[in-house]
Amino acid sequence: MLISRKKFLQVSAGSIAGVALSSLWLPKLLSAADAKNGKGRLPVIWFQAQACSGCAVSFLDAAYPSVDDVLIEVISLEFNPVIMGATGDLAMGVIDRMMVEEKGKYIFVVEGSIPTEADGFYCTVGEKEGNPVTALEWVKNIAANSMAVVAVGACASWGGIPSAPPNPTGAMPASKIVTGKPIINIPGCPPHPDWMVGTIVNVLKYGIPELDKLNRPTMFYGTDKLIHDNCELRQYFDTGTFAKDYGDKGCLYELGCKGPVSHCDVSTRGWNGGVNWCNRSGGPCIGCTEPFFPGGAGSGLYEKLPAVEVPGLEKININANTVGVALGGVVVAGIGAHAAARMIATKYRQNKEEKNRDKGTPYILKEKEEEEDK
Ligand code: SF4
Ligand code: SF4
Repeated sequence: MLISRKKFLQVSAGSIAGVALSSLWLPKLLSAADAKNGKGRLPVIWFQAQACSGCAVSFLDAAYPSVDDVLIEVISLEFNPVIMGATGDLAMGVIDRMMVEEKGKYIFVVEGSIPTEADGFYCTVGEKEGNPVTALEWVKNIAANSMAVVAVGACASWGGIPSAPPNPTGAMPASKIVTGKPIINIPGCPPHPDWMVGTIVNVLKYGIPELDKLNRPTMFYGTDKLIHDNCELRQYFDTGTFAKDYGDKGCLYELGCKGPVSHCDVSTRGWNGGVNWCNRSGGPCIGCTEPFFPGGAGSGLYEKLPAVEVPGLEKININANTVGVALGGVVVAGIGAHAAARMIATKYRQNKEEKNRDKGTPYILKEKEEEEDK
């Protein structure tokens, strides 16, 4: 089905809003629409290995543009076990046909990690001549005949939960299996639908988007997307007001927030059509877009990031328990020396003012008093 110019612009306008890209895209979209690439829709094979289907379900939640528009107008989703009607040989035959008829023209979306122990037999999908076929074999073959590979979710991007120690299945990310093809990582547990749709549309119309050193599109995971720098609870962090339990007022650092070392744009984009996002809902960021997930960047999933001395400020021992300002080695790297200095100055000034005024028992003094009582 050829996409009409009018419809394409409607869909693309939604994409622009959704991916928060600059209006510089518009002229390119116009020319792309005029050119009408091939069949008008980009063929996609969406394969699941060791996956929970959460990424596929998140994709179905696409709102701007809606998943209907995406599936009818933008991509031709030839294979996806979650939504396709066909089963058995009929379904698996679609992949075999695509690898021949659409060789080099389709996008290969991988969801889930790929087991490599026991020759990959921890995960098999379908059969050939009565023998089970491993996900490992499928991924290698489908990737070899594709235009590009998109690894969706933390599992396909980094190994994710299936690769957590002791990793008996030898679970690996797609990047460790695929060779000779461009690979884009769209991590998240699950990834936001806009990240998946936006990336696929970008590949369709312009090719591989700009990627960071972890192969993530910078438009969704760039250095300017550090959660800690875009968090509406940051004022509490800077002034040392930390939630001690769920529902408390304050920064979620002590409840294990990984925002200081995690990159994504949901603090501005929001989930579920922009209704809410992780930290605003009171659940601390778990760093689901980062390679340390679910390990926790040196701490457990819901344990706070380790506190250490601030490099270059040897005389000031920053410790979250006694000072109320939370800084770890990785945290400092994430927020930068400028932000660290700003927080320290803010805290020092605030302490002085609070002592002088002798008003109430602020958090930081309360902690000191508790220590002195011991
Ligand atoms: S530590 Fe987490 S909750 Fe606190 S300001 Fe940073 S990102 Fe927000
Ligand atoms: S804010 Fe944290 S938990 Fe939420 S999507 Fe981003 S990285 Fe994942």
